[in-house]
Amino acid sequence: MGRVVIDRDVCKGCYLCIGACPKGLLKKSEEANINGYFPAEFVDENHECIGCGMCAMNCPDVAIKEVYR
Ligand code: SF4
Ligand code: SF4
Repeated sequence: MGRVVIDRDVCKGCYLCIGACPKGLLKKSEEANINGYFPAEFVDENHECIGCGMCAMNCPDVAIKEVYR
């Protein structure tokens, strides 16, 4: 079971990661971060993450710090 860790205060809210995830496990947060952006958040209630790292690879701000397989 995979998992990713997003640094919500580094995220700029571009949402490229949302489009990159083949499982659709990233979504826009309802809460703003310290810079006023609504960061992406990882939601995986059914444990579908495969740890492929596509989200992290597509993040221009390197906000997805850790990818676990
Ligand atoms: S790609 Fe990176 S900066 Fe863009 S929304 Fe996702 S985590 Fe945030
Ligand atoms: S590691 Fe892959 S499956 Fe998991 S959240 Fe990122 S893009 Fe989606």
